[in-house]
Amino acid sequence: MCGIVGYVGDKQAAPILMDGLKRLEYRGYDSAGLAVRQGSGRIEIVKAKGRLSALAEKIDGGRTLQGDCGIGHTRWATHGEPSERNAHPHCSDDMAVVAVHNGIIENHQELREKLERNGYRFHSETDTEVAVKLVDYYAKKYQGGPVDALSRSMMRIRGSYALAVLFADHPEEIYAARKDSPLIIGAGAGETFLASDVPALLRHTREVYYIGNLEIARLNKDGASFFNVDGEPIEKPLTHIEWDAEAAEKAGFEHFMMKEIHEQPKAVRDTLHAYVKEDGSIDFSAAGLDEEAARGVRSICMVACGSAYHVCVTAQYVLEDLAGIPVRTELASEFRYRRLLLQKDELVIVVSQSGETADSLAALREAKRLGCRTLAIVNVVGSSIAREADSVL
Ligand code: GLU
Repeated sequence: MCGIVGYVGDKQAAPILMDGLKRLEYRGYDSAGLAVRQGSGRIEIVKAKGRLSALAEKIDGGRTLQGDCGIGHTRWATHGEPSERNAHPHCSDDMAVVAVHNGIIENHQELREKLERNGYRFHSETDTEVAVKLVDYYAKKYQGGPVDALSRSMMRIRGSYALAVLFADHPEEIYAARKDSPLIIGAGAGETFLASDVPALLRHTREVYYIGNLEIARLNKDGASFFNVDGEPIEKPLTHIEWDAEAAEKAGFEHFMMKEIHEQPKAVRDTLHAYVKEDGSIDFSAAGLDEEAARGVRSICMVACGSAYHVCVTAQYVLEDLAGIPVRTELASEFRYRRLLLQKDELVIVVSQSGETADSLAALREAKRLGCRTLAIVNVVGSSIAREADSVL
């Protein structure tokens, strides 16, 4: 999950959006994009893989993209490789609906099939394009306007999302919807901002609205109005942000480490909730580990380096307790140079933040050479370890 920004007012949107994305850069991302529009003119979309500087170069820092209303995004790929095609914004083929999204649409496959049956075609591998086209489908089918189309979509979508949406028929407005992914609105004088995190807003305003779970917002330059998932208007208080920019990046915590420690429950929940079914049962088959394969595992060997190794040392006790089979932890750098007594029915779990840790990658290859089943836990989709492991979380 990465960054979202939005602006509607009298100023040029693109430079403000680029600056906002820059302030969310500390979160890491693999591609970026903007959609900007002047009045009721055409919505222009520009995207680039890689750093924000690649996007900035395409639009001369924002100067060549004219318009006073727009949305921007930095992507941390979860569905589909990092590429310009998969970068946001995504749009309906007629550009009636253009949106950016943070989060994961869990039932994207089922929704994609439904939309395909209704004539929709897809041009990216993302779950986001499915959400965008679902909103377009409901907007066209029921003609009830943006809030109606969003609320119908929210009832169908399972998963997490912060969505910022432009509707071609509703110029000078941005719509937002959220569930389990952060999104806030900043109120300025004659201008309104949208962001996934406080640092993107602080240069412009300290007065913010927090959009609640399963709520919808409509922004124009005079402010914002809010709706529940049934499309009924709701009231929201303005909150004054006291933090300075540096504290805001750390979400009010004194150190990044404290922030990350406090984010652990959410990180674990985000990673696992796609595999926990509604009845509470667990099904890893979507990750490539079905019931039969899981039952065949007699022991587990966890392999990692550095702080990922320490995570494994802790996780080893939890796993052993839950699974009732022996679990051990090995340093990847030792693993690859030792004569290993691995069993064929041993599951080798490789943990790496980047998915590129050289020793961990070598250990994974060694485990595969020895005929063991492998599972990777990484933070980067499309990384080498993610690609080579049998299963990946
Ligand atoms: N799931 C979406 C994608 O893979 C959004 C990822 C994000 O939150 O940046 O494009």
